[in-house]
Amino acid sequence: MFLHNAPRAGGQGMITPTIPLDAQGVHHGFLKLPYSRDDSAWGSVMTPITVIANGDGPTALLTGANHGDEYEGPVALQELAATLQPDQITGRVIILPMMNMPAFAKGARCSPIDGANMNRSFPGRADGSVTQKICHYIATELVPLADIVLDFHSGGRTLDFLPFAAAHILPDKAQEAACMAAMQAFNAPYSVRMLEIDAVGMFDTEVENQGKTFVTTELGGAGMATARSVAIARKGIRNLLIHAGIMAGALQVGPTVQLDMPDDSCFVFSHHAGLIDYLVDLGDPVAKDQPIARIWPADRTGVPPVTCHAACTGILTARHVPGLVKVGDFVALVAVVT
Ligand SMILES: [Zn+2]
Repeated sequence: MFLHNAPRAGGQGMITPTIPLDAQGVHHGFLKLPYSRDDSAWGSVMTPITVIANGDGPTALLTGANHGDEYEGPVALQELAATLQPDQITGRVIILPMMNMPAFAKGARCSPIDGANMNRSFPGRADGSVTQKICHYIATELVPLADIVLDFHSGGRTLDFLPFAAAHILPDKAQEAACMAAMQAFNAPYSVRMLEIDAVGMFDTEVENQGKTFVTTELGGAGMATARSVAIARKGIRNLLIHAGIMAGALQVGPTVQLDMPDDSCFVFSHHAGLIDYLVDLGDPVAKDQPIARIWPADRTGVPPVTCHAACTGILTARHVPGLVKVGDFVALVAVVT
């Protein structure tokens, strides 16, 4: 029994894994964070984790439900955790299908415990809130183990995306090239070269700051996964593990459209509340200043709609869901085809 790899004993309010992170074979368990509360005085937040290891090789860290209402990652990673066998890999795969378990359990973007957005809470704090502690553990204990990190996102309950994998424009061009190559290996229908405008607190930024190869996704949204979007996730995981040298086999490669998101000028936000009437759908070409949506009053008849226009030329890459918008809501993202 791998006693030398036994989980560390943690202090009060610290996360301890219930499984070894460096043992050979398959281990399913939890990251256990004591969390005393009204309905469970000595309860814990239990974040499911699977570690599959075989021999010496690279380590991949695969994460889903960073935001709790995004489902392609959890579905595809649950399947991977249940089916991947050690003899299929050389190296190690660390799988967190639901890294933000409190938010996932509620079907919400942010944690119901502390209200925090996990993807704005990195690198976290050892003595912080529940979300900050989970972030701190992942940043200090899991990311350092990894050579390559894949973090699944989609639009959640209020956005819908074209299915894309993304890598960031980075100051270290060798690291950027490694991330772009991993994104191309993932081979989503769309591949986005992305400049993050406000990267502070993101998991992406923490992983990249540690010098790792990082790929993220937006695979759909509207608070659900589809057969098509999960198939993209499933293929992307396999391709990424092959690309990383962890799994043997040939990449499954289909066509991908290269998109550029060079700055925030292609985001459109609503200055009006009402009933949104999209004039284009995801994937449709749009030209700068073209009307892309109308917003009708939601509370009266006989009033003309307000028109929203595209701010740049490209294809509609993300939109708002569901049917009503508030002042300040995101309406559209147009990415540039390269
Ligand atoms: Zn997300």
